[in-house]
Amino acid sequence: MTASAMPQAAGPMIDIDQVSKWYGDFQVLTNCTTNVAKGDVVVVCGPSGSGKSTLIKCVNALEPFQKGQITVDGTKIADKKTNLPKLRSRVGMVFQHFELFPHLSITDNLTLAQRKVLGRGREEAQQKGMALLKRVGLEAHAHKFPGQLSGGQQQRVAIARALAMNPVVMLFDEPTSALDPEMVGEVLDVMVELAREGMTMMVVTHEMGFARKVANRVIFMDRGEIVEDARKEEFFGSPRSERAQTFLSKIL
Ligand code: ADP
Ligand code: MG
Repeated sequence: MTASAMPQAAGPMIDIDQVSKWYGDFQVLTNCTTNVAKGDVVVVCGPSGSGKSTLIKCVNALEPFQKGQITVDGTKIADKKTNLPKLRSRVGMVFQHFELFPHLSITDNLTLAQRKVLGRGREEAQQKGMALLKRVGLEAHAHKFPGQLSGGQQQRVAIARALAMNPVVMLFDEPTSALDPEMVGEVLDVMVELAREGMTMMVVTHEMGFARKVANRVIFMDRGEIVEDARKEEFFGSPRSERAQTFLSKIL
């Protein structure tokens, strides 16, 4: 078989190549390089201020970066020709604070972007929204407003809302760290199920139980650098860097 006739290996879903970013004089990311294959669940951890949120925001083009390249599902995000709203619609994002629209019902929260961005009709958007609401166990709450739900319920709605856009990848930035402890489990359960169904996920979290259960890889960041990028077993078994060892000893 000639080389050109060989099946092409699919590229990574997210490719982060030598990315550096500054806020003024302050370098927040230094030469970050990693990738996330289709179906991978990559947990990103590290001390507060190490650049985790910034890195994940760069992947969703919510923050610009000055050096390097990020490619999402084959699209270079820093390319001037890239349609950023379209790209963002394919990258689901769930933040620490639920960020549902407070003045809209749960149904409207779930259908707004489907209608405005994807151009789905009301009926189709509602069907999709209800199916996802059911999946996160909240179908009885469709008519309520965000303020009438608990934090854990709101975060489950936020996940359903992101999934309604049929994303190719889901990014999570500390999705459980603003929740009361008794609500952490219900949100992690939804995320574990999503991971097991094969969703490609990049998850900033300190929930090492989640990492142990479903992550393929763990990335450890410190002071803007990716210090460690290892298979889960290696990371928990024998982290190479002293910085990761110290971090793990504090949170485990
Ligand atoms: P993490 O999510 O790991 O806690 P962040 O990515 O939020 O870290 O922040 C990394 C560093 O960048 C921190 O020192 C933070 O103070 C700084 N930083 C974050 N956002 C900004 C900003 N908009 N302007 C200036 N500095 C920022
Ligand atoms: Mg953060």
